[in-house]
Amino acid sequence: MRALIVDSGQLRLEKHYPDPVVDETTALVQPTCMGICDTDLQLLRGYMDFSGVLGHEFVGVVCQGPEEWLGKRVVADINFACQACDWCARGQQHHCPQRTVMGILNANGVFAESVAIPVSNLLAVPDSVSDDQAVFTEPLAAAFEILEQVSIGKTERVLVLGDGKLGLLCAQAVATTGASVTVWGHHQSKLDRIADRVHGVISPDWEGRPFDVVVEATGTREGLQSAIASVRPKGTVVLKSTVADAHQLSLAPIVIDEILLVGSRCGPFQRALQALDHGEVDVNCLVDYIFEFDQAIEAFEHAGRRGVLKVLLKPELK
Ligand SMILES: [Zn+2]
Ligand SMILES: [Zn+2]
Repeated sequence: MRALIVDSGQLRLEKHYPDPVVDETTALVQPTCMGICDTDLQLLRGYMDFSGVLGHEFVGVVCQGPEEWLGKRVVADINFACQACDWCARGQQHHCPQRTVMGILNANGVFAESVAIPVSNLLAVPDSVSDDQAVFTEPLAAAFEILEQVSIGKTERVLVLGDGKLGLLCAQAVATTGASVTVWGHHQSKLDRIADRVHGVISPDWEGRPFDVVVEATGTREGLQSAIASVRPKGTVVLKSTVADAHQLSLAPIVIDEILLVGSRCGPFQRALQALDHGEVDVNCLVDYIFEFDQAIEAFEHAGRRGVLKVLLKPELK
């Protein structure tokens, strides 16, 4: 099958990659739409030391597996857990020490003609949600994880740092609580895309009015420092960016102001699908380019450019 693989930091489109192996616990899924994520770009630069088929954002159709799933349009939780350890028994599959992660850690991803996925990870996509929306389920779930971890109500003032894909999704997820959300970024054109849902600012004009909750989604090393400087005493900083570089910052403000620092990764896929189904968030406004799978290398070049938001891949453009 055709597959986009990363090998020693090199991206390569293979025409004859071995087909995935399926057993009674897995289903074979043919992706119909795939999203390029910043994590994919980082994996190319050596993050996680990954090699194999790249990609974890997708929607697809089950072509082999249990009868009740055949022909179904699906998305899937990207963490493949062992389902046998203490963490899994406690319902914490995202932290299973034996887990593999699709397209990120010891499991092939979705940038291919087909991918093998544990049946227990599959979620059916409601008919009302298009492929171009469903492909956002994974990053949107990561955004909704914030609400699993931090109690945010209507009276809370929340700042999201970063106007990239993740920042704009986090802002929209938080805005579903009715909280007042401010997004800080460099690009008015990006902030404008969700202007009807949140308040966007370019210059950091919030000095002197600290926020109850600050979500750091800049993807930069400096983001955490800005987040700590923007939160009120006893406030909460949620760290969404995975920055591979080492941080160098003073932790004293965290102690003095008793700031709660929360790391935040993968989230509830069902909640993300529900939000797409109910129109609580707008993801279509984040799509900049759609490429045919055969143009995947070119698509990656576009995805890596400054100011570009989501780039999608499809087996073929109709
Ligand atoms: Zn992603
Ligand atoms: Zn486990």
